[in-house]
Amino acid sequence: MQIEKQVIIDGLTFEPYLTREQIAREVERVAKEIARDYEGKDPYFLCVLTGAFVFASDLIRATGLNEAPISFIRYKSYEGTSTTGSVKKVIGLTDDISGRDIIIIEDIVDTGLTARRMIEDLRQQNPASVKFATLLYKPESSQTGFTPDYVAFTIPPKFIIGYGLDLDGKARTMPDIYAIKES
Ligand code: 5GP
Repeated sequence: MQIEKQVIIDGLTFEPYLTREQIAREVERVAKEIARDYEGKDPYFLCVLTGAFVFASDLIRATGLNEAPISFIRYKSYEGTSTTGSVKKVIGLTDDISGRDIIIIEDIVDTGLTARRMIEDLRQQNPASVKFATLLYKPESSQTGFTPDYVAFTIPPKFIIGYGLDLDGKARTMPDIYAIKES
C-alpha cells in the first residue's frame, strides 16, 4: 500500500510516522498482554471518544475477551494542536461499574491531565480496578507523572494525526499515522 509522502491539512504539513502495518503489530501485542492479564475475568472496556474509537475497535476484537462489554465516555481538553490545560467531561457513564475491572482505552496520553481526571471520576463509582491502555504515550509532555498500564507506542512530543486522531475534526479516517513537520 502506497503512503502519501506528506499531507497538508489546515495549512499544516504532516509526514508519515507509523504505518498501518506497524500499528496492527503493536495493537496485537497490547491485546495479547490484556488477554493474558484478564484471563478468566470479565473486564469492562471504556473507550474515550472521539479519538480512541479506531484503536478500541481493533484492540477489543484482538483480545478474544468475548464477554467484555464496551462503553464510551468523552472529555475535552484540546483545541487545534495544543492542550487548553483544563479538562471538561462532555459525555459521562450511565452504567453501574461498581465491582467491575475497568480498562480505559485512550488514543494518546500527552500531559496526563485527562487520564488523571478520568481515573479520579471513575474511582468514585467503586470499580474493582482501573487500568489504562493507550495507543500513543508522550512521556516527555507529562505534567502529572501518570504512566499508562498498556502502551502501543511511546513517542516524542510531536503532534500526531490519523487512525482516529484529529486536527479539529479532520484526519480521523486516515489509516496511517502522521506527525506534524517541524519547520
Ligand atoms: P492530555 O490530557 O494527556 O494532555 O491529552 C489527552 C488528549 O489530548 C487526547 O485524548 C487527545 O484528544 C489530545 N491530544 C494530545 N496529544 C495529541 C496529538 O498529538 N494529536 C491529537 N490529534 N490529539 C492529541
